[in-house]
Amino acid sequence: MQLRDVRNSWESQPLPYLLNRRGFALGGSAATLAACAPSERLYVNVYSARHYDADRTLYAAFEEATGVAVRVLPANAEQLLERLRAEGEATEADLVVAADAGNLWRMQDANLLAPVTSAALSAGVPQRLHDPAGHWWGFTKRARIIVYRKDAVAPDEIASMDNLTQPRFSGQVVARSSTNTYNLSLLASRIERLGADNAWDWAAGVRANFARDPQGSDTDQIKAVAAGLAQVAIANHYYVLRMARSDDNAERESAAKVGIVFPDQAGAGAHTNISGAGVAAHAKRPERALQLLEYLVSDDAQRLLAPLNDEFPIRPEIEAAPELAALGAFREEDVALDALGRRQGEAAAIYEEVGWR
Ligand code: FE
Repeated sequence: MQLRDVRNSWESQPLPYLLNRRGFALGGSAATLAACAPSERLYVNVYSARHYDADRTLYAAFEEATGVAVRVLPANAEQLLERLRAEGEATEADLVVAADAGNLWRMQDANLLAPVTSAALSAGVPQRLHDPAGHWWGFTKRARIIVYRKDAVAPDEIASMDNLTQPRFSGQVVARSSTNTYNLSLLASRIERLGADNAWDWAAGVRANFARDPQGSDTDQIKAVAAGLAQVAIANHYYVLRMARSDDNAERESAAKVGIVFPDQAGAGAHTNISGAGVAAHAKRPERALQLLEYLVSDDAQRLLAPLNDEFPIRPEIEAAPELAALGAFREEDVALDALGRRQGEAAAIYEEVGWR
């Protein structure tokens, strides 16, 4: 396995095929990576848990603007954490990209990210969407929303996440496992806002209304609602958009049967998380990592990314993609995202206690 220059090739092979069971690279030591480096060209290495064409376009634009090639090693967040840990000081990672502040916090907590601040970063990223010390910075936003089956539920019945605990939805709620970072962050945020007792009651109430044991991905929850297994699900907003334009007929049909609600618009706002990035603690090219990070939050990059992306731009003044803009403006929960990491342990304990596994 090696880092690839996005301009010449893109690593599309999913990492599970490239890693052994403990998450270590097969034949891809740091020394090998260094030996493979294009000596005549400047480059920066990104370990990324985001695998979108839109990101590839951004990296190519960065290279165009700066002459610095972006090489990407793709993996999921868990694998990136394991790999960064295993590589330690020898890592070739310069910038680390991952979805959900909870995942970024875990990397920070393992001392794998460097605290980095700059005027451009502070100007580019709203305060609550980055780590106060600068270990990670958001560059896109995603909302955790309620998906409902249009022929069974009126949107005003699910105006709040609290509605999912009501008898009205007994046996009608589906959600993925609580070990998933999205759900940990969702509950961590509630703990931060309303305290552990409230969070416990909410988790227990939702769990009591489950149509089935938690299983599958966010997409699987949406499909379950469309198929009539349940009436409502918790999911990130972009999964519905992706299904709506899927090549798979069945996915498009599922998407047509469901609507989405940004919950708690009359109250605290919808849980809104980030995709973000941080400079690797042992980056060999930290200045270039910072340069790329500053680029990601710049007007140029945000304007380039927005129409290609199913997530929201990091700043409200940048216009989102038309499908997103069509959903209308929504109110975001006002929680500093570093709390999501700090509260993850408490969130996991509550889910365990209420039996939402
Ligand atoms: Fe996702």
